[in-house]
Amino acid sequence: MKPNIAIDGPAGAGKSTVARKLAEKLGFLYIDTGAMYRALTYCALKKGIDINNPDELTELAENVEIFLTADEDGQMRVYCCGEDVTSYLRDPKVSQCVSKVAEVPGVRRRMVELQRKMASAGGVIMDGRDIGTYVLPDAQLKFFITADLEERARRRLKDLEKQGYIADLEEVKKEIAMRDAKDSSRAVAPLKKAEDAVLIDTTNLTVDEVLQLIFKISRERIKDDV
Ligand code: C5P
Repeated sequence: MKPNIAIDGPAGAGKSTVARKLAEKLGFLYIDTGAMYRALTYCALKKGIDINNPDELTELAENVEIFLTADEDGQMRVYCCGEDVTSYLRDPKVSQCVSKVAEVPGVRRRMVELQRKMASAGGVIMDGRDIGTYVLPDAQLKFFITADLEERARRRLKDLEKQGYIADLEEVKKEIAMRDAKDSSRAVAPLKKAEDAVLIDTTNLTVDEVLQLIFKISRERIKDDV
């Protein structure tokens, strides 16, 4: 069985870019768990569910189908309740509400169940906040990727602009700082570096430099399998 690789870290640290490229290089399956929480949040907002009501959110989480797949160009598509919600995942309203939805224990229970099922055959690179500590504590390789808040906000702003959103650096900075604080302080599976995760600060590194570093470590640590 191929190993699993866990990549955690705060918002905007570049986890998903690196995880996606590493998965391509290694021929692993990439699973973006943030996209799952975002899809559920979008679905809750669309259905008019009160995001301050944990029972309603738990019921929704238990009954939705969330499905990640790749289109013919290899781009990830996310389906929720049969709808392709990919283009709504970074919507500012979703970003504002997602940490509130993600702190609900019943929501996490369901998402973690789906995530563990997807990783059960191995060969998965999964990114998120609690992958190394909680979802896949036995992952053969774990990374914790971080960067300065200022730099993370700049990167997120660029991503948003590329997707056609008009945003402001200070606003983006506030939003990701708020999410980090909420994600790090919640009761269930908070954002935290696993003790056995390799810490990588990407503040002064390009995507290619981070990728090279992670690829090198992956080959050294799990050389028989990649
Ligand atoms: O990774 P991304 O920034 O898209 O994640 C959006 C939000 O989803 C996070 O801020 C966090 O609240 C939640 N999340 C989580 N656990 C994960 C992945 C994401 O709580 N494993």
